[in-house]
Amino acid sequence: MHLWGHCDRAGRHSLYSEGATDQDCLRGVHEADPHGTVRFTSVFPAANGGRWPYLHFAVYRSLDGATAAGQIADTSQIALPEDVCDAVYAGAGAGCEQCAANMATTPLERDPGVRRRGGTRQHPPARGGDRQPSSSATWPRLTDRRLSSDGRWPRLGRVSEQSQANKSGFETRAIHAGYEPDPMTGAVIPPIYATSTFKQDGVGGMRGGYEYSRSANPTRTVLERNIAALEEGERGFAFASGLAAEHTLLKALCRPGDHVVVPDDAYGGTYRLFAKVEEPWGLEHTAAPVSDVDAIRAAVRPGRTKVVWMETPTNPLLNIGDIEAVAAVAHEAGALLVVDNTFASPYLQQPLTLGADVVVHSTTKYCGGHSDVVGGALVVKDLEVADKVAFHQNSIGAVAGPFDAWLTLRGLKTLGVRMDRHCDNAERVVDFLGRHEAVEQVIYPGLPEHPGNAVASRQMKRYGGIVSFRVKGGEAKALRVCDATDVFTLGESLGGVESLIEHPGRMTHASVAGTDLEVPADLVRLSVGIETAEDLLADLDRALA
Ligand code: PLP
Repeated sequence: MHLWGHCDRAGRHSLYSEGATDQDCLRGVHEADPHGTVRFTSVFPAANGGRWPYLHFAVYRSLDGATAAGQIADTSQIALPEDVCDAVYAGAGAGCEQCAANMATTPLERDPGVRRRGGTRQHPPARGGDRQPSSSATWPRLTDRRLSSDGRWPRLGRVSEQSQANKSGFETRAIHAGYEPDPMTGAVIPPIYATSTFKQDGVGGMRGGYEYSRSANPTRTVLERNIAALEEGERGFAFASGLAAEHTLLKALCRPGDHVVVPDDAYGGTYRLFAKVEEPWGLEHTAAPVSDVDAIRAAVRPGRTKVVWMETPTNPLLNIGDIEAVAAVAHEAGALLVVDNTFASPYLQQPLTLGADVVVHSTTKYCGGHSDVVGGALVVKDLEVADKVAFHQNSIGAVAGPFDAWLTLRGLKTLGVRMDRHCDNAERVVDFLGRHEAVEQVIYPGLPEHPGNAVASRQMKRYGGIVSFRVKGGEAKALRVCDATDVFTLGESLGGVESLIEHPGRMTHASVAGTDLEVPADLVRLSVGIETAEDLLADLDRALA
């Protein structure tokens, strides 16, 4: 069923469905976004006495006057009090400037049969199974529109409140963006929608745009909106792992014959993806030091380089790339800048605000934060890129499941406080290791002697929770240290509340042995957790003895 909208000066909007009666009239709020879209979301989601608890929908109307509509299934189930409809009708026809312009061509405005005050209103006639309205405009179905360029993915929560949340401070966004308490129960935390499919009210009659959980799932939607708000991007996408996100992104942005510049000390799994999966498929890469802008410029192949890939800080050597400078190099070459922001997390660094086009996360790490879920995310600035990613996310299907999405969301709520504690403890560890006689070198971007210190100080809030160090005594000693800790658990991964220790050469980066990306054999990497700092220092002291 198609919906028409109308607005009053206060920004309230009424919606009418094709062939509807008064009872089908809904009032909504709208916000215009810069992409030519006016979004409506019902402000009466629980209007039907809870009988339709998840009534969230959106209607879209493009600014050029070409109308478009969402669908809402079976509006006969929606009963609103008459006074609500009256209030809406009283304001109809006196729209705000923007809406007046937007709606100048709506069937409602032109239809003389529509009475605006009192009595029984006439609405445009129902057209049976024909979904085309009487105007010449095209009326795409919501299913088709979900992946299109206006950011029109299924939404939970009121758009107006969501926007407010997006403008708030980081921690407020982390806790609230993407969700408002469930309209039926008031549940403060989003439900885990453990469902693969969604009941349709008639063919194509989807409630809120959900049809199948690979395409979209409400729990995943909340996560995608939340992480997009944290990275200050337009749209977020959640995946089953960081590598699933990376692979999907490369398929969305590149074709065989294209070329990518990658950091010469990228995470081993990322490099393996480029070398062993993408290269045989036809995507070439050149490795360049992320901290050397000239080397990156030299690695670019004009006309062929589609993506410049950065990690900053890198894993495990904690090299720092200048996001603004590399964005300029990428954009000069007509390429996109992708930044893997896993190590910093959006709390410490927001690459999109510095010129990057896409942010990648292994949400397994700081975003999830509790070592209890594997996941990945992309946040995109440009809606055309978002469309491509959305298409490939659905087509490849490596999506985050609802429970994983929920765990990640729970982690994100405390990201800010956790990161500050990670940084506090890391600074204590750096100070301790720097004075320890068994340590050859401490690598931490917060150290003044770190070559990336100035850039890190400019683009990061603090320097993060990862500390790498080289031991005196070579690989054998490094392996012994890794074996000897107690509070630091020997294990791969990072970013959880518990401290981890690992030997990159033999563990996370074993796949790059013998390549340009090989890491030093005497290197130890710490993911400094949020335990009591003194316990961490005592543990390291024992292990280094
Ligand atoms: N990017 C970085 C910087 C990583 O450290 C990792 C994993 O360790 C990944 C990407 C891959 O993420 P996942 O293990 O979630 O696939």
